[in-house]
Amino acid sequence: MSTTLKRQPTISVDESLLYKVASKIGGEEAVKIVKELKKRGKATEEELAKETDIKLSELRKILFKLHSFSLVTSENVQDTKTGWLIFYWRLQEDQLKSVVRAQKRRILEKLQARLEFEKTHDFFYCNDKHCGRYTFEEAVENFFKCPSCGGTLQHFDNSKIIEALEKKIKMLKEELEHE
Ligand SMILES: [Zn+2]
Repeated sequence: MSTTLKRQPTISVDESLLYKVASKIGGEEAVKIVKELKKRGKATEEELAKETDIKLSELRKILFKLHSFSLVTSENVQDTKTGWLIFYWRLQEDQLKSVVRAQKRRILEKLQARLEFEKTHDFFYCNDKHCGRYTFEEAVENFFKCPSCGGTLQHFDNSKIIEALEKKIKMLKEELEHE
């Protein structure tokens, strides 16, 4: 029987942010561990070491780091056959969600500030994209001559930029609402 439906590796925005957070905490190896935990739900250190090819001692170090940021949690589960306790690690999804949410909010704030800047300023350019854009004030100060190449500065239509920013902001807002 095929399990391809269950294991579709589609990466959502949330998941890529999750891996970014893991990577900031413990590098590529932390990403491997988080991916494995995401797939399995819970796993022992031995299982994780085997799947990720990370040395057990190194693996523990990274797990404790992830734990200190509340991204993973541990639990003891009694084996039904042997009666022994098995030590498992699992992702703390709620915590991850709030980390991801906070990150999205920061991105949203930055985009909104950028949109405000674009909407409240007129821009000028010399037709050479390497020279960049100048605000009206900067253009006046330079007598409408490009400070880097000397070309004549003309009005720059930023409506496409505004449109793209508004689209992104709308998308992020919807995502934040539906979580
Ligand atoms: Zn120029």
